[in-house]
This record gives sequence, structure tokens and C-alpha cells, in this order.
Amino acid sequence: MNLHEYARRMPKTELHVHLEGSIRPPTLLRLAQRNGVALPAQDEAGLEEFYRFRDFDHFIAVYITVTRCLRTPDDYRLIAYEFGANCARQNIRHAEATFSVETNIRFTGLSWQAIVEGLNEGRSQAREEYGVDWRWVFDIVRNLPETQDEVVEIALAAREHGVVALGLGGTESDFPPELFVRSHARARAERLPRVPHAGETAGPESVWAALRLLHADRIGHGVRSAEDPALVAFLVETQTPIELCPTSNIRLGVYPGYETHPLRDLWDAGVLVTVNSDDPPMFGTDLNHEYEVLIDHFGFGLDELEEVSLNGVRASLLPEPDKTRLERTFRTEFAELRGELGSTPRARSL
Ligand SMILES: [Zn+2]
Repeated sequence: MNLHEYARRMPKTELHVHLEGSIRPPTLLRLAQRNGVALPAQDEAGLEEFYRFRDFDHFIAVYITVTRCLRTPDDYRLIAYEFGANCARQNIRHAEATFSVETNIRFTGLSWQAIVEGLNEGRSQAREEYGVDWRWVFDIVRNLPETQDEVVEIALAAREHGVVALGLGGTESDFPPELFVRSHARARAERLPRVPHAGETAGPESVWAALRLLHADRIGHGVRSAEDPALVAFLVETQTPIELCPTSNIRLGVYPGYETHPLRDLWDAGVLVTVNSDDPPMFGTDLNHEYEVLIDHFGFGLDELEEVSLNGVRASLLPEPDKTRLERTFRTEFAELRGELGSTPRARSL
């Protein structure tokens, strides 16, 4: 049994992945050309260079340039469709993809309805062609706190179009949770789950504030919770899921390398850890690669890989009966795949 092959073929979920950060490099180049947007890269090698981030602010600047390449409803259809193709390739059965709706409205002049229609056309197309499906998380960009009311209203109105949560992204260190209490209270009053990024570029105090002030149902990243034992204990006790994205953390300099990344400590402490790719082509990764990282750098064996995948089902925002069904399907497929790839494997000796 080859553990890497098992990881590629096992059914998985992805809860922390940004749609604009998932655009395939050839597609981005084509969109830029078609829409007359000047990118500082002319080919895929140039994009790789463009995606070498000095720090988080530089990353945000690049992200904005990428978003500016989108112009028409058909662009949204295309990137959603390709997102689905990518899920199918990696056997991702359920995803919750973040999309910064307000930034896209601002850059294109389109209505949210036109954008969502494009997105969902791509989603239906991927569903028909590949049998994959996913939901949307619409996030507030922290750098624009004045847009929070608009974003939460759109997210609420778009629930019938597949939006399952309110997100909060952007520059965490300068725009703390305290600034976003109003919009999150509104979401909470309407029973729309909240999944803010916290504990990525800011420390545990940011996670505490996301939990206490924003009533977060799940924490985007949350990795720096590891710096506060009381917070780790709280996450374990409440089983509040965290969405770890190890390669993203390395590429943005949150940790110098995998060997100093606290994923293993959080896992061993009993935190409900999920593993995700964040902005796959921008960080030179994808979910399959993140699972390989679990094997190669964090010593995960087969049972643990399965547990990570099932944590994604448990931490998802699917209705309970769907979660139960999906978990059952995953367990059946794990057993089949174990049979196919050869009996009971021993993790690291393989
Ligand atoms: Zn993110």
C-alpha cells in the first residue's frame, strides 16, 4: 500500500478554499488577456514568480490584481466550473468555497445577482459533468469594514443560492474582530453561521475575540491558538473546528517551515482539526498535496488521514442527515480502498 496514493484517492472535503485564489494559471492568463488587464506575468512561469509573497500585505495586493481579471458573468461561470473539475480530480466530495462578493461587485460593476448566477451556472455544469457539489461562503474583507452590512445582507439573501455562512478575510492584524460585531450579530440573529479567519497573522487574542464577539462557529486557520493553552483547551472542550492550511502558513511566513508548524500539537491535543489548501495555485499546492504534507511532515498514518477527512464532514455546514450519509459513504469507500490497495497498512513504513 502506498500511503500517498491512498491519500489521493480517498474521498475528502475542503472547507477553507477561496474561489478567486483557485483560478487555474492558464485560465487567469486567458482572462487577463480577454479582459484587457495588465498582469505582471505573461506565462505560467511568470505567474509562479508573481506568487512569491514577501508578506501578507503583498499577498493581498496580488490577490486584488487576480480578482481584477474577472469581468463578466461568464468569467464567474468558468472559474466555478473549473473549481468543480479540480474537486473531482482530487475526489473532494464536499467543499465550502469562500468568495469575496463585494470586491467583485466593486471591480465589475455587476449586481450580486448576476455574479451569483454566473457562479451557480458553473456549479451546475460541474455537478452534471463530474457529480461534485459545494456551497459558498461570502466573506467580508476586513480592510473594508464599511462594506460589512452590505455583505451580510447579500449573504443572507443568497442563502437560497447556496450560501451557507458569513466569512471574514483580509488583513487580520490591523482590522480585529471588534470592528465586525454588528454584521456578525445580524448573521447570528438570522441563524447564518460565522466562519471568520482568525489566529493566522494575529495571535490567540484574535481567536478569542472571534469566538466571544463574533460567535464563530468555526475558525479559519486558528493555527496560532497553539500559543495559548487555555484557548486550545477551550477549542477541545467545545469541539469548535479549525481550518488549518499548513502550506499557506509557510508561504505567507506565519511559520518558517513545516517542522515549526503546530499542526501535530493541535491534533494531539484533541482539537477538531480540518486540513485545507486556502489558495491552491497561489501557494503551489492543492488538497492532495496538503494530505501528502500530513504524511511526510507530520507523520500521519492511514487512520489519521481518514480521521482528518471525516473531521471535514463533521465540521461542514451540511444539514445533519447529509453529514451522516456522507460519513457513512466515506467509511464504506475507505474500507473498499483499503481492500484494493492491500490490507492493513502501517503508516510510515510504507
Ligand atoms: Zn483564507
